[in-house]
Amino acid sequence: MSIVHNLGFPRIGAKRELKFWLESYWKGELPAEELLKNARGLREKHWLLQRGAGVDRVPVGDAALYDHVLDALVLVGALPKRFKLDAASLDLKGYFTLARGDATHHAMEMTKWFDTNYHYLVPEWRADTAFFANPARLVEQVREAKALGVTAKPVLVGPLTLLWLGKSKDGSQPLELIAKLAEAYVGVLEALAAEGVDWVQIDEPILALDLPAEWREAFAPVYAKLAEVRVKLLLATYFGSVAQHAALIAALPVAGVHLDLTRAPEQLDAFLPAWPENRVLSAGVVNGRNVWRTGLSAALVQLENARQKLGDKLWIAPSCSLLHSPIDVAQETELDVELKTWLAFAVQKLNELKLLKRGVVNGRGDIANELAASDFVQASRRNSPRVHRLEVATRLAKLAPNADRRDSAYPLRAKKQAAWLKLPLLPTTTIGSFPQTAEIRAARAAFKRGELSDADYKTAMQKEIALAVREQEALGIDVPVHGEAERNDMVEYFGEQMTGYLFTRHGWVQSYGSRCVKPPVIYGDVARPKAMTVEWSAYAQSLTDKPMKGMLTGPVTMLQWSFVRDDAPRSLVCKQLALALNDEVLDLETAGIRVIQIDEPALREGLPLKSADWDGYLAWAGEAFRLSSSGVDDATQIHTHMCYSEFNDILPAIAALDADVITIETSRSDMELLTAFGDFEYPNEIGPGVYDIHSPRIPAEEEIERLLTKALAVIPARRLWVNPDCGLKTRGWPEVKAALANMMTVTRNLREKL
Ligand code: GLN
Ligand code: ZN
Repeated sequence: MSIVHNLGFPRIGAKRELKFWLESYWKGELPAEELLKNARGLREKHWLLQRGAGVDRVPVGDAALYDHVLDALVLVGALPKRFKLDAASLDLKGYFTLARGDATHHAMEMTKWFDTNYHYLVPEWRADTAFFANPARLVEQVREAKALGVTAKPVLVGPLTLLWLGKSKDGSQPLELIAKLAEAYVGVLEALAAEGVDWVQIDEPILALDLPAEWREAFAPVYAKLAEVRVKLLLATYFGSVAQHAALIAALPVAGVHLDLTRAPEQLDAFLPAWPENRVLSAGVVNGRNVWRTGLSAALVQLENARQKLGDKLWIAPSCSLLHSPIDVAQETELDVELKTWLAFAVQKLNELKLLKRGVVNGRGDIANELAASDFVQASRRNSPRVHRLEVATRLAKLAPNADRRDSAYPLRAKKQAAWLKLPLLPTTTIGSFPQTAEIRAARAAFKRGELSDADYKTAMQKEIALAVREQEALGIDVPVHGEAERNDMVEYFGEQMTGYLFTRHGWVQSYGSRCVKPPVIYGDVARPKAMTVEWSAYAQSLTDKPMKGMLTGPVTMLQWSFVRDDAPRSLVCKQLALALNDEVLDLETAGIRVIQIDEPALREGLPLKSADWDGYLAWAGEAFRLSSSGVDDATQIHTHMCYSEFNDILPAIAALDADVITIETSRSDMELLTAFGDFEYPNEIGPGVYDIHSPRIPAEEEIERLLTKALAVIPARRLWVNPDCGLKTRGWPEVKAALANMMTVTRNLREKL
């Protein structure tokens, strides 16, 4: 029988229940037993919901309390040694100490799960890392599911992916641990088999990457070992094509393989002809990474094609875990009705899978009405005047070939900028935001509730701007900012003022632990009907003689932190964003704001998973940034800002942005990052962050001085700026003032010596 299965379900809850329980447990307000009981209730609810939605095999073990990679480490007994915790007896307190740290341990490091916005806890490997099977908790959940009459399919992070995602802490090669790790997996699988589990999903998303030869070669022996246990393994791949590893995958002794046919539909043709007999193919035809209703007709064609060859060996699934999708569109009661018909969140996606199963098993006639409805939705999006704006298309078509170039090269621009800016050596600035105080948030909330008038809100924000300007003047900051008091979020603030964006009330997606994000949705052509920031920046400028820096979020970051329409290439959407932002840049310039920063913290994270696709991405991303920042006078100074990233491999692309000044987060890397810019001979001006803004700790003058001295050794003084690592919105005013005062003192002292 062809069946529907799911790879994973969002764990946070439709009302973010888990978030609130976790946070009250951390505050000591919810007892541990209550948290555990509530979490169990939630996961049971989700199992029943999935079964009710037609999922024949329900994922179990994916509902981590904090993170599924941490859970995988508990399962194989491989907790980071420095915590001195034993996985077998780990309690809630220990579990959260790993995740969040305590007075004596810094938390496990966190990083992005492939190219998603989910962050996992990074395993810590050492040559002596030991493993043991620790399946008690997973087995308990399998029993819970069984008790509810749910057919459980346990989900495991695969052994090679788990190793790959970790970091060596002693210089040893993580891959050397694989034999020991495989033993632990065998133990886990045996425990599951003893529970009567027949299928286990084992996720190896690293197969979508370009893997070094030794990693590729490690698959066969490990899976040969796992195959000794009497359970069927469904090897799950996602986030990209795995066709380059087709021979490797074909030879593995697994009972099934899952392919992501939304990111890489062409894989099906590559794999089908040589599909091993008796192997299940799980076709991921409903996108787990976006919010759009699936075109059922097109998905059905893929499935029919596969079923012809595979018959009942064809399974139907979302492309990846639904962890990355919001939960239920039905909660969006305030959303425009037409736009709402275009959306599908996790619950709706499961329903689509059920329909597709009926269509492929019973024939199209069985879902004729639903197919017609789906076709109608697709057509309504295709033809909607709300999606397609002629003026946007025309403008793009007419774009001059050099629209993404400044008039002159940097050296000449720098002269013209210096002539009016008259900045001292080592000019000082900040990254944009100042503390988002409780008063600011209260004012915004009241304004949104309609309790504060436009005029009163404006007055309240102007007061905050005036305060920020005053403080910066007192400190002597050379290029002040207005402080971004009026912004709730650096993407939402702009999205709300652009066409083509919609916002949900409950479209939360887990970012890490209890943290969730609610990405805006780009559904149509993007334009900017009127100025978005000019009024605030101009007001700020009116309060000071110093050059006020205008502050925008760049096109790549706007794209990267939104759900993006699936009916246009990302590169095109990015270009539209760039032009909308360019309108703002030009308006700012006209209003006398002649230093403008366009933040691109998400540039690096947009890099495709396969290095062969990097150049293409960097070309259009760079073009979009330049488009947004061109058309201004040579004397107008364009800044950009990027947070902590691995810049080394993309330095040429960063230089190609041709920003006059870039500020980067470097203090955490002890200026190592800057050294890379120096070695590369980065041509324009650069402001390495001289202190970490993530902690309330006030940096001592000596620390700042040490970092700046290091910076001066690699970047000539005339191209060096001084600034904190990133925006200050999460800090309090007393710390900010003290930290910036130290930064200014050090800078003044150094200037005298230069
Ligand atoms: N201008 C933004 C701020 O200062 C930049 C934030 C970021 O880089 N993530 O908050
Ligand atoms: Zn930043």
